[in-house]
Amino acid sequence: MSTVIDGKAYAETLRARIAESAAELKLKHDFVPGLAVVLVGEDPASQVYVRSKARQTVEVGMQSFEHRLPADTDEDDLVDLIGQLNRDPAVNGILVQLPLPKQVDSERIINMIDVQKDVDGFHVENTGRLSIGADSLVPCTPAGCLMLLKHYVGDLTGQNAVVIGRSNIVGKPVSMLLLREHCTVTIAHSRTRDLPSVCRQADIVVAAVGAPEMVKGDWIKPGATVIDVGINRITDESGNKVLVGDVEYDAAQKVAGAITPVPGGVGPMTIACLLRNTVIAACRQQGVDVPDSIG
Ligand code: NAD
Repeated sequence: MSTVIDGKAYAETLRARIAESAAELKLKHDFVPGLAVVLVGEDPASQVYVRSKARQTVEVGMQSFEHRLPADTDEDDLVDLIGQLNRDPAVNGILVQLPLPKQVDSERIINMIDVQKDVDGFHVENTGRLSIGADSLVPCTPAGCLMLLKHYVGDLTGQNAVVIGRSNIVGKPVSMLLLREHCTVTIAHSRTRDLPSVCRQADIVVAAVGAPEMVKGDWIKPGATVIDVGINRITDESGNKVLVGDVEYDAAQKVAGAITPVPGGVGPMTIACLLRNTVIAACRQQGVDVPDSIG
């Protein structure tokens, strides 16, 4: 039986530390970090994420600014809004909820965000800085994966890490973070040959595909650490809608040394890391040290 990596509990602790940092910044430096979230359209999943982000921002004592725009918003209006948020000193972090509607060039919008306020870490400059190992705002889900790994495994030096998925928002940045921790990193994807054998070499498996229970229990090396990023909504045998990851959890947890469940693993870490990025961004903009509790 493996250790269950409790992302929900870890995220709760992290949010408590963020709340302490926000209180400390108010007391010592008289400012409150602010996060602006922009939602275009009515995608139900995006609406849920945006609501949770706003609620958790306020719960840790920071300011939340929500901008909801209709699905037919044109790109120029969005460009104007990003410009305003870039100039607004009360806004330290800007998050544009993806996906954006088809008429909007997402890459243009993301790269218009002031790089210092890019708390999602998707701006091309932050992406480049991460890949050269320079200081940057790191994408939230990958940052959450790394925190859980370091907390449960400790030093990652020399570990064979296999990341399945090469997206710009999860697979690539998580690979860069693992490389920075001195892992030997293999990035697998839809064209990888003999994925089961590649996986069986891994001390660490990070699955970020979006395919329900694709990674089988017998792909996992005994004792390996498994981080399941996948969030898949399926209907189970009893007809209930349930969430499952990319890993066949029941089989994998019999072999793995430690594994994240879905839900309750990586998922809760994403918003906690977003709030942490907002505090870091605010401190940099104000020219003050990031409080030790979240440093
Ligand atoms: P994506 O669709 O952008 O990328 C999927 C990747 O998987 C691609 O690089 C593709 O090459 C690879 N892939 C597809 N089929 C494969 C196969 N058969 N074998 C090996 N690789 C294959 O997805 P994404 O945005 O990176 O998200 C991945 C999953 O993580 C999704 O389930 C998503 O919902 C979830 N996710 C969770 C969080 C969170 O926990 N907060 C955040 C982001 C994404």
